[in-house]
Amino acid sequence: MVTTRYDLSRSELAELLEGEPRYRVDQVWDGLHTQHREPAELTNVPKALRSAIEELLPPGLTPIKEVATDHNKTIKQLWQLVDGHLIESVLMHYRDRSTVCVSSQAGCAMACSFCATGQVGFDRHLTTGEIVEQVVRAAQRSGDRRVSNVVFMGMGEPLANFDNVWPAIERIHDDLGIGARKITVSTVGVVPGIERLSRQELPVSLAVSLHSANDRVRSRIAPINRTYPLRKLAEALHSYRRAKNRRLSFEWAMMAGVNDSETAARELAAFVRPLNAHVNLIPLNPTPGFSTPGTDLELIHWFRDLLESFGVNATIRSNRGTDIDAACGQLRAEQQVMLRGKPQRQKA
Ligand code: SAH
Repeated sequence: MVTTRYDLSRSELAELLEGEPRYRVDQVWDGLHTQHREPAELTNVPKALRSAIEELLPPGLTPIKEVATDHNKTIKQLWQLVDGHLIESVLMHYRDRSTVCVSSQAGCAMACSFCATGQVGFDRHLTTGEIVEQVVRAAQRSGDRRVSNVVFMGMGEPLANFDNVWPAIERIHDDLGIGARKITVSTVGVVPGIERLSRQELPVSLAVSLHSANDRVRSRIAPINRTYPLRKLAEALHSYRRAKNRRLSFEWAMMAGVNDSETAARELAAFVRPLNAHVNLIPLNPTPGFSTPGTDLELIHWFRDLLESFGVNATIRSNRGTDIDAACGQLRAEQQVMLRGKPQRQKA
């Protein structure tokens, strides 16, 4: 694999720039990370060094397509990796924050039936640099508005790529300056990953894509549940809470006749109440491989009120960018049809 711009740690960069004084290494590192600069814009370092960096550390992400919606408040970017795979990230501006939603893998092996990425399958893990670079690119695109939050809710299962995701989180925190609580890892319930997360020092936020609190139903829509059923998941989440004392949240994409009944609400309440967690109800995005329609908005409101009456805090999440396929791998799906279904290899 080619080493791309953000793949090196600070000490590896120092090794690469062997012979350069320490302050130069710091200038390059800070320029790339804190100031989100391109090598050519590192005007405080000599030109020869700028060119060397450009050559030694090519970008990991090449822009393929950008789509904006919600009056430019949602900007979806499709990137090509150096080996041809396509990934997405989404920049979302809100009144009080700007959030980038990043991918952790090209494709996903979790095979959730309702998820566009899950329907396509797994290509490979993203490197630490490819994850960090998505945040840097979003910060560049965001201009005067500082990117304040990062959510791992793009393509892939972050806890299945822990070895690369965790160093990326540390870099996003330490060098890009984003607070730990403003970094959210979203998982479908990879129990060993949750256990590892609870042993880390940085108190990042954890979101769990639950979608059903009934093993039979959940195993059907999220096959990982066959390996880590709800009881195991609950155990891991309880010890996570004990270790970190951090608030948990759950995502629940509302699928008609699957997880939107009174029984479903009761099961959900019984699962989350002991964890004192918050529930985000998400209107389902239609995807090519899943024919069940999403729950009507009116029924989603009823479900929310029902949860509240069971003592559970629940919010209906606005679904940014549905009109531009800005959710859940759809832009990539469309692009891959255009590329005849195969990632295009770049010439070496
Ligand atoms: N693998 C991780 C992160 C990526 S998915 C996880 O499962 O949490 C990010 C969120 O989008 C998850 O909550 C996922 O369940 C949700 N999602 C996936 N497909 C969706 C769809 N078609 N409609 C609405 N939400 C969806």
